[in-house]
Amino acid sequence: MTDIDSSSIEGLLREDLRGGTPYGAPQFDVPVRLNTNESSYPVPPTVVAEITAAVGEVAAGLNRYPDREFSDLRTALAAYLSSSGTSVDPAQVWAGNGSNEVLQHVVLAFGGPGRTALGFTPAYSMHPIISSTVGTTWVDGLRGQGGAPFDLTVESAVAQVRAHDPHLVFLCSPNNPTGTALGLDVVEAVYAAAERPVVVVDEAYEEFARPGTPSALTLLEGRPRLVVTRTMSKAFAFAGGRLGYLAADPALVDALRLVRLPYHLSAPTQAIALAALRHAPELLGSVEAIKEQRDRMVTGLADLGLAPVPSDANFVLFGGLADAAATWRALLDRGVLVRDVGIPHYLRVTAGTPDETGAFLAAMAQIARPEQ
Ligand code: PMP
Repeated sequence: MTDIDSSSIEGLLREDLRGGTPYGAPQFDVPVRLNTNESSYPVPPTVVAEITAAVGEVAAGLNRYPDREFSDLRTALAAYLSSSGTSVDPAQVWAGNGSNEVLQHVVLAFGGPGRTALGFTPAYSMHPIISSTVGTTWVDGLRGQGGAPFDLTVESAVAQVRAHDPHLVFLCSPNNPTGTALGLDVVEAVYAAAERPVVVVDEAYEEFARPGTPSALTLLEGRPRLVVTRTMSKAFAFAGGRLGYLAADPALVDALRLVRLPYHLSAPTQAIALAALRHAPELLGSVEAIKEQRDRMVTGLADLGLAPVPSDANFVLFGGLADAAATWRALLDRGVLVRDVGIPHYLRVTAGTPDETGAFLAAMAQIARPEQ
């Protein structure tokens, strides 16, 4: 007999995980699913054929482990990033099963017990979860200190970095769930504010940014602690493919090999991501259409007397709701699933097809009750 109460798994669990709830948005089978910022556009048939063929080509070799260093994929991702005008070398690229895994690798390598990570709330809710599940102390920094409600000003960000002296800083641009991109001046100032933190700029939605919001990729040169993460889940319409990646200094990328599990990117994953990257223009072809729907949602919500936040992403956060939870429910009753991100009086909606925007705005017109 041991003194552990083995009748309760809770009693065996790490103390800091007890009573926790797993991350996860509802996966309801409803006609209009606008809650997880996926693309509503299916993979085009020509690309489906290429992906199928790519899987066929690796199938016979599945008796062997895949290329642990995913060299061809790194080269293709570097070429894609470089096509934006900032040259990125394959040695600067790392990838994982979604950018969540890539973020986890960064935290495993640079965070951990006795270390702290700072982010500016509200931002992507997995940043604190990934940090704390690997033992990093999370510090909830604040937005809206001197600017519009969700803005992050240079002065405020720098002051918070200096006050907390973290090992890791998370920035998110365009920011989920608010939608707005950060100025590069904030990234530069956060980087310069302290000497030790690894500064992560999560650019999951970068391809949807409005003109005039350049990527933090342009700041990588000469900043060995800067990391820019990206994903194929959003603009590439490839969320099910599970491929996220980052660009950083080659030495930082090399350090991530210490924490990844061997062969973490399966041969089919590498093959389908390569096939998708060969067809980047087709897969990215819906980005402009999605931006149009996003802007239509912003206008439509403002016309209803609500308060949409300016968006550089494929979603819109909108406020002015008397009761966000009741609106969420009323939308679901009309077959439209959006996201309650836990900000009082606000909901977040993903931009999809024109028909989905129409259904969402029509439902909102029926039920919207702007605050008096
Ligand atoms: N970063 C941000 C800001 C996100 O919103 C998401 C997905 N919701 C991710 C990262 C993770 O995406 P994935 O793991 O699919 O790449």
